[in-house]
Amino acid sequence: MKFKSIKTKILIWFGAVTFTILFVFSGAFYYFFNKSVNTSIESRLYKQAAFVKNRLSSGANINKIAREHLISTFDLAIIKDGKVLNKTKNFDLNVLKNKKTFFIVDYGEYLSAIYRLDFKTPFAGQVVLIQQNIDDKVEDLADTMLWLDPILLILLIFIANKLIDKILFPIKSITKIANEITINSLFSTIYEPKENDELRELVASFNAMIKRLENGVKKIERFNNDVSHELKTPLTVIRGEAEITLHKPREPKEYISCIKTIEKEATQIQKIVDGLLLLARYSKTNIKDSFEFCNIDTILLNIVKKYNHSLTIKNLSLKIKKIEVISTKANPLLIETIFSNLIDNAIKYTPKEKNIYISLYKNNKIHFLIEDEGIGISKDKLPFITDRFYRADESRNRKIKGFGLGLSIVKNSVELHNGKLFIESEDGVGTKIEVIL
Ligand code: ADP
Repeated sequence: MKFKSIKTKILIWFGAVTFTILFVFSGAFYYFFNKSVNTSIESRLYKQAAFVKNRLSSGANINKIAREHLISTFDLAIIKDGKVLNKTKNFDLNVLKNKKTFFIVDYGEYLSAIYRLDFKTPFAGQVVLIQQNIDDKVEDLADTMLWLDPILLILLIFIANKLIDKILFPIKSITKIANEITINSLFSTIYEPKENDELRELVASFNAMIKRLENGVKKIERFNNDVSHELKTPLTVIRGEAEITLHKPREPKEYISCIKTIEKEATQIQKIVDGLLLLARYSKTNIKDSFEFCNIDTILLNIVKKYNHSLTIKNLSLKIKKIEVISTKANPLLIETIFSNLIDNAIKYTPKEKNIYISLYKNNKIHFLIEDEGIGISKDKLPFITDRFYRADESRNRKIKGFGLGLSIVKNSVELHNGKLFIESEDGVGTKIEVIL
């Protein structure tokens, strides 16, 4: 298929429409101008004919009339029953063949207008004809239009061509940048035109699309880096353990110990991958598609039930301050993840025989509060605890299982629901976390 640019299409359309308008307009102008010129000549000649008729009726002599009024501009002839009674010198008798009231004869170099007035009784049969040479203004106008119209058309197309170039300039720049964009160089943005018009809107949407793609690519890069970084340790442990065990024949209990280590590390890998996949799966643009009506209170109570065993082992008391019945549109998987990570942390970081308090209520928004009497977080670490793989005070936490993904997942899930996460904590006193959705 042959490429036809928008510019060519616009120019062809513009040219066709302008051509039609110019020629229809010129035609109409020619027609009405011609009509108006003829009408004015006709009425002038009629007046002269009527005057001559009155003078003749009152007995005046034709030469006298001609001398009096029609000397240079008009010629006239008086006809009676087809015979010329009298005429001025220049009157062209050939025009008598034409029986119309008003007509124009073309003599080549000039035109001549003729008006014919028939007398009524008592002079019936008598006719007066007035002849006057006229300028061919109408023909002059037509000639002017014939050269002026094409020049106007060419001029307009030339101006349109320049204007289209100016208007389409941003599109050329979009095409250029779009051609330069690859997955590795998503960082160019297109210059936005100053005028607030459709093209600026297009450029803005294009830039927004580049930004979204850029975020997507960054997300994938981060996922790749996180996965390779975090999986390295357990994979090294698995490989080392297997190599050492296979080095020489071993007792069955040594094999069992090796397999147990491998199983533990494999479980760790699975948890990391699940967590990272959950973080990568949803984004602001696709989260709404996964929303459904959820009973938030039921989800919370089910999660609490799952932790009964861990609570009992540490002899912790989980006190429910209040739980209101709340149903809303949300992603149930992420809501579950929020509750389970926060309860899990509270249990993990609270020493035995202490209390954990939870409440769920709704005023304008949905509030979930969890407070513990645990080890707390120092002020300097607090800003980082929602970062991926960040573990505050690793030496102190060594015995507590985890890999620093929980709060990052919670924060991300809350933000995907347009919510907010507030964390207050005091070292050695406890932690209070509030989720507002
Ligand atoms: P993980 O618990 O797997 O280490 P998280 O992302 O859930 O990862 O938490 C990050 C860090 O924040 C934890 O390592 C811990 O130091 C601190 N933290 C989280 N919750 C609490 C809590 N309730 N009390 C004290 N410290 C906490």
